[in-house]
This record gives sequence, structure tokens and C-alpha cells, in this order.
Amino acid sequence: MAKHFDYICIGGGSGGIASANRAAMYGAKVAIIEAKALGGTCVNVGCVPKKVMWHGAQIAEVMHLYAKDYGFDVDVKSFNWGKLVENREAYISRIHASYDNVLGNNNVEVINGFATFVDAKTIEVNGEHYTADHILIAVGGEPTIPNVPGAEYGIDSNGFFELNEQPKRTAIVGAGYIAVEIAGVLSAFGTDTHLFVRKESPLRSFDPMIVDTLVEVMAAEGPTLHTHSIPKQVVKEADGSITLHFENGESHNTDLLIWAIGRHPTTDKINLQATGVETNSRGYIKVDQYQQTNVAGIYCVGDIMEGGIELTPIAVKAGRQLSERLFNNKPDAKMDYKLVPTVVFSHPPIGTIGLTTQEAIDQYGEDNVKVYQSGFTAMYTAVTTHRQPCKMKLVCVGADEKVVGLHGIGYTVDEMIQGFGVAIKMGATKADFDSVVAIHPTGSEEFVTMR
Ligand code: FAD
Ligand code: NAD
Repeated sequence: MAKHFDYICIGGGSGGIASANRAAMYGAKVAIIEAKALGGTCVNVGCVPKKVMWHGAQIAEVMHLYAKDYGFDVDVKSFNWGKLVENREAYISRIHASYDNVLGNNNVEVINGFATFVDAKTIEVNGEHYTADHILIAVGGEPTIPNVPGAEYGIDSNGFFELNEQPKRTAIVGAGYIAVEIAGVLSAFGTDTHLFVRKESPLRSFDPMIVDTLVEVMAAEGPTLHTHSIPKQVVKEADGSITLHFENGESHNTDLLIWAIGRHPTTDKINLQATGVETNSRGYIKVDQYQQTNVAGIYCVGDIMEGGIELTPIAVKAGRQLSERLFNNKPDAKMDYKLVPTVVFSHPPIGTIGLTTQEAIDQYGEDNVKVYQSGFTAMYTAVTTHRQPCKMKLVCVGADEKVVGLHGIGYTVDEMIQGFGVAIKMGATKADFDSVVAIHPTGSEEFVTMR
């Protein structure tokens, strides 16, 4: 006989865990099914290991670029990539243990195995059947590999986190968050790193001020950026190296190739057709504003929802809001997908919320948009020979100059913008920003002193 629950979450990643815990806190009988490791993409092959590598890269930069001008005679004898990876994985193991504890304390049953649907109310895992009144699909995505000959000679972001040795030479193909972040990390560690993008720049959906500054810093510090480079073929050479051939006739020889060209949902593997749940042509599940699919009792959050935003806090918040609605008598609880702050852990980091200048013009008309900008050399770098730019921008609209976009790139911008997100969510105007006394000397004070 099938074991019955009030709520089953398929996928123990960001969305599934958050939703399961919240539901259980309200007394629901909850199970979570995870095929691999608790924590999903973010904890195992995403945000967490990435940020650890980024911190490591920051330390490399301190020693190689800045320490000397601060008076330190640093002699870096060696860098042990394996040690960093070992400590990173030990940290991730501690996160697994803590997730296990919290789920246990909340009486959430953790089922290890790969779930497939039998019908809209029944799930099969390892030959056992489980039923639930409510089922959340939060199975996340996986990296996409392009359909070019020899693509199998490259690895993806999951493979990057499996590397036990630092590559000497690496080519990264892609122009999004992952490509830019991994390229920045490897370059800072001293790997000869080349980033290949299809069009004129990486991160094309970001404000041009951000993109231009990132490209300027890349030119000064690395990685080497190659634009208009569309891969055509990959060849494995006799010496074990890899040659990438591009449609523009150019080629590039390297030791390691990393594909970072986007991700796709894994909804094709769970026998979704047995439920009648609708997806779009790319496998993303269609939901309404309450995360409800077209089938009663089946919901979806996270990277696999159509029109979503592929960020951990989005999956977490949507999962929690759903449980508030289903199990805490809050019929209106839902995720607000507007004005989401986001950071790219590039070198230097990028932080952004809301509209770019062009998006504001398109939405409000050029006459209604006023842009404030600031550019300076980050003080941390200004006392050294290795000066690095910091650029900031506020996009304001209407007579009251409501701030609808905030963008920054530079030293510690990653830690600057969360609070500004609160202000912008509350509808702050430029005058509200100006009414705050600056904190001096910081970089973030520029956001409240622009003229
Ligand atoms: P996931 O976290 O992917 O979880 C899905 C889980 O479901 C997985 O554990 C999987 O094993 C499991 N699963 C799949 N199918 C089944 C099945 N049939 N049965 C049982 N279990 C199943 N976001 C940020 O906010 N900040 C960052 O800095 C950041 N960095 C990133 C860096 C990288 C390299 C990557 C790849 C992503 C990054 N992200 C970041 C994005 C973030 O990781 C995702 O948005 C987030 O993990 C999505 O959560 P989710 O719950 O939708 O899915
Ligand atoms: P992405 O969608 O951000 O970028 C993919 C890039 O690859 C695009 O720029 C696209 O133009 C390019 N591309 C697509 N097909 C290509 C091809 N055949 N050849 C060459 N280039 C090609 O995807 P991603 O970088 O894999 O990241 C996935 C998502 O994960 C992100 O959108 C983001 O939401 C999330 N993420 C967030 C963070 C963060 O918060 N710091 C970090 C990493 C990932």
C-alpha cells in the first residue's frame, strides 16, 4: 500500500527544502524526495561551492595585486587547489548535516531516490509508492551542452566543481552568470583563462555601464575576452589538449573547456505526462501566480517554472509562500517576482535591482527618466598601483524621481545592495536616498550622494 502524506516535495534543493520545512512547522505530514544530495544545485554545485572558490580567488588577488603596496612582503610559495576543494567539500558536508537535522527536527521524512509520477496523486521511488494531497515539483535544472561535434570533450559547471587540480589553461564558452563567475575565479587563481561569447559582450541583459566596466576590468586583469565567437567544433589533440574551432574561422587550443551556455529543466525525466501537468516547449512548468499548475494539488517552484528567475532565494521564498498558503491558512500568500536584487560574483562583483536605463525609457518614455551616475577608483585599490574602477547608477522616473533601477560594479558592491533593495521595494525616491546621511568613507555612500 502507498504511504500517504499531506505534502510531498519532489527535489531536496532550495525550493523543496524550504517549502517542506515550512509546511511541517504548521503540522503537516511532509516527505521530501531527493535523488542525490540535500541542498540541490545551490549547496552542491552552485552558489555555495562557487562562493567558496570566489572567496579563494579574492585572497589570491589580495596577495598578488594589493598586499605589496600595503607594505607586505608576501612570498606565496604555492597554492594548493586540492586543499581548497577539500575544505569546501567538508563545509558542504556540514551543510548537509545541518539540513538533515532541521528536516528531522521538523519531522519531515527524507526519502532518498529518484521520483517519478505514477499518476497525479502517486509517486514511485525505488519501487515504493507514495501519495499526497499536495505535491510540489522542485526538481531544478541541469547544465546545457551545445550540439556541436566534439562537445563531449568539454565539461560543465558540475564538472568544474569536480576538478581536483587547478587547470593551467581554460576556455569557457558562455556569456551569463556562470561563465563570467567561473572565468573570473580561474583567472584570479592564475589559470590562463579565455572567455568566449557569441555576441559583442558578456552579460548583455545588464545595464551597459555594468557591462562596459566589466569588460574594461577584464581587459586590465583578465580573463581574456573573445567576442563574436560561436563554437563550431571541438577537437581532441594527440597531446590531450583541446582545440575549439569557431564559426568566424578562428581556433583556440586549451587544456580544459567549460561549457556555460545556460541550463534546462529536468522535467522530462519524471513521467510528468502521467499527471497532465502542462509545460512549455522547453520543459518549463506553467504555473499561476500561486505556483499552481493546471492540475489540482500539483505545484511547482524554482528553476523549472516558466517565467521564473533562476536564483536560490526565489525558489526558497516561492516554496515558503506556497506552504503559508496551503498549510497556514493564508490564501493570498504568493511570491512577488518584481524588483529582485541580484549579484554576479564577478571580478569585481556586480549588484543590480530593477530597470536598466533602456528598460526605464521603454517603459516610462525618455522625458520621464533621469539617470544619476558615479564613477571612482575604489579606495581599497586607489592606494596601490592596481587601481580598479567602481561605477554606480540610479535610474529614476517621474517628477518625484522614484528610483526604479540601481546598478553597481566594483569592490564590495556584492554586499552593498541588499538594503537598497528594501528602499526600492518601498518605493523610495531620489530625495529619500539623499535624505540619508552617508557613511564615510565607504563605497556605498555614493548611492546617497549622487548629483
Ligand atoms: P535545485 O536546487 O536544482 O534542486 C533540485 C533538486 O531536485 C536536486 O537536488 C536534484 O537532485 C533533485 N531531483 C531532480 N529530479 C529528481 C527526482 N526525480 N527525484 C528526486 N529528486 C530529484 N543562485 C543564487 O541565488 N546565487 C548564486 O550565487 C548562484 N550561483 C549559482 C552557481 C551555479 C554554478 C549554478 C549552477 C547555479 C547558481 N545559482 C545561484 C542558482 C541556484 O542554484 C538555483 O536557482 C537554485 O538551486 C534552484 O533551486 P531549485 O529548488 O529550483 O532546484
Ligand atoms: P544564463 O542563461 O545566465 O547564460 C547563458 C549564456 O550562454 C547566455 O549569455 C547565452 O547567450 C549564452 N549561450 C547560449 N547558448 C550558447 C551557445 N550555443 N554558444 C555560446 N553561448 C551560448 O545561464 P547560466 O550562466 O548557465 O546561469 C543559469 C542561471 O543560474 C542564471 O541565469 C542565474 O539565474 C543563475 N545563477 C545565478 C548566479 C548568481 O546569483 N550569482 C550565479 C550563477 C548562476
